[in-house]
Amino acid sequence: MNPLPHDLPRSNAELFARSCAVIPGGVNSSIRAFKAVGGTPYLVERAEGPYVFDVEGTRYIDLVQSYGAIILGHAHPAVTAAISAAAAGGTSYGAPTPGELLLAEEISRRVPSCERVRLMNSGTEATSTAVRLARGFTGRDRLVIFHGNFHGATDALLAAGGSGVATLGLPGTAGVPASAVANTLVVPYNQVPVLDEQVAAVFVEPVAANMGVVAPAPGFLEGLRAECDRVGALLVFDEVITGFRLGTGGAQERYGVRADLTTFGKVIGGGLPIGAVGGRRDIMETLSPLGPVFHAGTLAGNPLATAAGRAALEQLTPAAYDLLRARAQRLSAVLTAAFAAAWLPASFPVVGTLVGMFFGDGAPPVDFQQAKTTDEAVYRAFFHAMLAEGVALAPGAYEALFVGLGHTDEVIDAIGVAAGRAALAAAAAVHAAD
Ligand SMILES: *Cc1c(COP(=O)(O)O)cnc(C)c1O
Repeated sequence: MNPLPHDLPRSNAELFARSCAVIPGGVNSSIRAFKAVGGTPYLVERAEGPYVFDVEGTRYIDLVQSYGAIILGHAHPAVTAAISAAAAGGTSYGAPTPGELLLAEEISRRVPSCERVRLMNSGTEATSTAVRLARGFTGRDRLVIFHGNFHGATDALLAAGGSGVATLGLPGTAGVPASAVANTLVVPYNQVPVLDEQVAAVFVEPVAANMGVVAPAPGFLEGLRAECDRVGALLVFDEVITGFRLGTGGAQERYGVRADLTTFGKVIGGGLPIGAVGGRRDIMETLSPLGPVFHAGTLAGNPLATAAGRAALEQLTPAAYDLLRARAQRLSAVLTAAFAAAWLPASFPVVGTLVGMFFGDGAPPVDFQQAKTTDEAVYRAFFHAMLAEGVALAPGAYEALFVGLGHTDEVIDAIGVAAGRAALAAAAAVHAAD
């Protein structure tokens, strides 16, 4: 366990204030600061299975699960043993290792379109490498992305979407120059865009999991495949969330559509920092040292991350995914019942093992235009009521709910009991505000 100094004050408020004095906003990834929901974040001291424990000793049932990087439950014995054993042999060498070979082989075996795999340190590094690779391979500059999809902190993919129509080149954040997104076209999700021969690649989350959870419409992914083939553009599936979470072969197996390049992260590192790009041999072999497209990383293929990732994948058998799918259905069912009983319109769409949230009337959203109509005030109230009930949700209304093998049926039923009370509290809070 993380050894803390004896004299460290065991107070979330005090420690978060101290963090804010040295770390911008007190966090190393912006969503953790609770800006979308208000209040002060809890600081985690340790975690086990479905639970996280904060520095005050409060236990929460955790549905954040490191935003999907954890799938077996926290501190799974197989993963911690693999990490300890690897660490005892040294933590980084700057030379090839058998561990990275074995993880790359496993990824390639599970996702056949990944004839070659390059390992790196984060999902962001994977998407930025895929951008450079797609452009270098095709000799074209233009990228097409979908409004509401998220591809990490990669400049060329941080373009702001317009209002339901295709827009070109608006920086999605300060610090991204217009020139960095001048060749990035943002189009609505679940509609196949008409491409031309300037397009290097289409980047897509095959199941959108950063605007709630939105399934691909029937024919959408197949349509993208055909349109990319028509103009010679590459189809890039960003499977940083869906890879090894939806099933043994990720979204490509589930929907039967083969990507040219696939980006991975999260689950494949077993909770350690990792990213990967996999794809067609001819494309992947344009990466250095074989080809002209540069890629390098001091810690790429890190022995701890590859050991943790291999240990995690070993547990992720077809039977494990059956269990995860059943748990996702159960979670959706208990949350749906809680909101129905509180007369608050909400839906909790399930795609395989992923569960989303939408607070509003009608069918769950199919694109970002619809997703952003979610009632964030309901979520804010529900989030805090759940925290008070001992259940930690992600502090943002557009995140997925991540179930893992640590969430037994009993744990999910406990979430249901908490949600029953929290939904009533949320209903009272929003009605009081009306
Ligand atoms: C999390 C995420 C990323 C970024 O991965 P990091 O490891 O956080 O850099 C990229 N794409 C998708 C779909 C993600 O969910």
